[in-house]
Amino acid sequence: MTQMLQGLMQDDFPLNLHHIRRALRTKSPDARVVTHVEPGTVTSATFAEVHERVDRLARVLKRLGVEPGERVGTFAWNNQRHFELYFAIPCLGAVLHTLNIRLFEEQLTYIVNHAEDKLIFVDDSLVPILEKLAPSFQTVKQYVVMGDGDAGSLPGALRYEELLEEAGAGEFDYPEVDERQAAALCYTSGTTGNPKGVLYSHRSISLHSTATLVKDGLGLGRADRVLAIVPMFHANAWGLPHGAALAGADLILPDRHLGAEPLASLISAERPTLMGCVPTIFADLLRHAEANPELDLSSLSNATCGGSAVPRQLMKDFEERHKVRIFQAWGMTETSPVATFSRPAEGEHDDAYWDQRAKQGRPLPWVELRLTDDAGAEVPWDGSSTGEIEVRGPWIAAGYYRDESSDENFDAGWLRTGDIAAVDEHGFVQITDRAKDVIKSGGEWISSVELENELMSHPDVVEAAVIAKPDERWSERPLCCVVLREECETGAQELTEHLRGRVAKWWLPDEFAFVAEIPKTSVGKFDKKVLRARLAEDELEGRVQLS
Ligand code: ADP
Repeated sequence: MTQMLQGLMQDDFPLNLHHIRRALRTKSPDARVVTHVEPGTVTSATFAEVHERVDRLARVLKRLGVEPGERVGTFAWNNQRHFELYFAIPCLGAVLHTLNIRLFEEQLTYIVNHAEDKLIFVDDSLVPILEKLAPSFQTVKQYVVMGDGDAGSLPGALRYEELLEEAGAGEFDYPEVDERQAAALCYTSGTTGNPKGVLYSHRSISLHSTATLVKDGLGLGRADRVLAIVPMFHANAWGLPHGAALAGADLILPDRHLGAEPLASLISAERPTLMGCVPTIFADLLRHAEANPELDLSSLSNATCGGSAVPRQLMKDFEERHKVRIFQAWGMTETSPVATFSRPAEGEHDDAYWDQRAKQGRPLPWVELRLTDDAGAEVPWDGSSTGEIEVRGPWIAAGYYRDESSDENFDAGWLRTGDIAAVDEHGFVQITDRAKDVIKSGGEWISSVELENELMSHPDVVEAAVIAKPDERWSERPLCCVVLREECETGAQELTEHLRGRVAKWWLPDEFAFVAEIPKTSVGKFDKKVLRARLAEDELEGRVQLS
């Protein structure tokens, strides 16, 4: 028998956040973190300055008794201090637990107690939300308030800037961390049941950050200015803070100023090249840009959109009218989150090109996926057969934090995503639905995503969310909830005509609901759960039935 011949490379070099932290100081000390602190006012610090503060912060954490493996919570917007915590906590061997500030109160209580957070760092603007919940937190020993605002009734609250000041300057002597050690914890928003904890390792974050630099992915590079709108409390802001640190790109953070107007001013003033956010924010920005033609958003040559299906018309309108290019990514909290990216070969921007752009794209390097049917058999990649996406790779979750009940989400080394998709011969994924949103009509499936996409290509439609309506004969039929542009009176008949020819005839809805707004989840996605509940309670407004 031949013996295995070991390679002679530095395979023990750890893939950990120390490398990315060191890069701040050594490789790109002049890159900047810019925070939109007040309307029209930004603060800015170089990466070298940030690193100096991370050293101080690490000393503070140590003095506060944070031990390796302990969870430290953050309750914060996207800003420089949150970025500092992103490095200081994991580099001390502890775990950064980013709390979703928009979760329901009982879910926040649940996740803080489930994670057993020891400390929580909170933005002063968010103290009013947190102080109400503090009495229900069982393990939190201390709060640190960031900013000069009121600390409210938070017991024994310390002040971030005072602590950093007292900590003194000088390099911190960081402990070594194993690349498989936990670095960050983020809970899914718990669309069904309690939120589940995804526990990222140093290795998974390091590899995922590297993937943000890949040209066929987000393509982040040193020359970029990266505007991270996607919250830092949600799936590591899609890896943008780590990616910017690794690449040496400027990072621009909007803090709490997330309306279309302040975002558009920030974009015009700071000229980001790359930005990440969900489609609802892009749609708000587009409407704002149409109403304010003097605004120049064209620096955004490489924006990323994801979190839910990105309407093709949204990408086209931005590109053709505002020279803003938006590319689509797909992923989930459990996939760090970026798993696929759609960047078809450039050429003529014909229908075929836009068909590819409208898909969720190809798996990134190191990400593998397969489609399975209800019986668990593999579904071919022919562009039309659909199945559930199962995914595996070094930045994909292998389990949930202290939650054995979730075994059904994993299938022999693969993560079951609950997303239904077709994959074409070129490996381009097209999500047709979330399993729980799919409309089962007469034994066949209707894609709510595709219907929404086509509805949102109508010029009078601002938002569209399609849900299943129980039906005696067909089991379920599509019900289209639509928000019309102001002062438009487009009717159900006209929208049906618009859909005719674009979707199969039996997909045509027999009912619309003209609503004032589509409810959104804590991370800005359409909340179909709420729409379904309204339908069940007979509280859905503006319903129009077609004969
Ligand atoms: P939540 O479950 O709270 O929505 P995630 O952010 O982890 O939290 O959501 C991941 C899900 O979002 C995916 O499983 C998928 O259904 C959806 N999603 C993400 N990106 C896209 C995309 N580009 N197109 C369609 N769906 C997407």
